[in-house]
Amino acid sequence: MIHWTIGQGVPKYLEQHARSVVKKIIKCSPVLHDLRIVLVGAYTYPSGLDMVCGEFASPHASEATPTIYACVFSSGERLSHITDTICHEWGHYEQYRDRKPLVEGSDIEQRTRRLMEAVERG
Ligand SMILES: [Zn+2]
Repeated sequence: MIHWTIGQGVPKYLEQHARSVVKKIIKCSPVLHDLRIVLVGAYTYPSGLDMVCGEFASPHASEATPTIYACVFSSGERLSHITDTICHEWGHYEQYRDRKPLVEGSDIEQRTRRLMEAVERG
């Protein structure tokens, strides 16, 4: 089951996009935990670049459940960045779910692309 936390300053249309991405991902990648997804809206870069970054946190002392963080920048956001971020972090959730080490590398890049294709197909 997915638990959403929407940070301050996340525009509604970006939240809606993120929710629709996740709805499509779970059709092909089961969620076996309480999975928290946090959209963080407060980040800004001095350069004014629009970027999204993400993080996957497995449960530890300060997190009771696996958690995906996606930083959503509010100006001129490109939806594909959010899709990319969520798919990448979802790949880390799958590593956790499947009891594999949480690592970067070609496997997760490939998995990110597969999930993005699934999202595009709907
Ligand atoms: Zn990663």
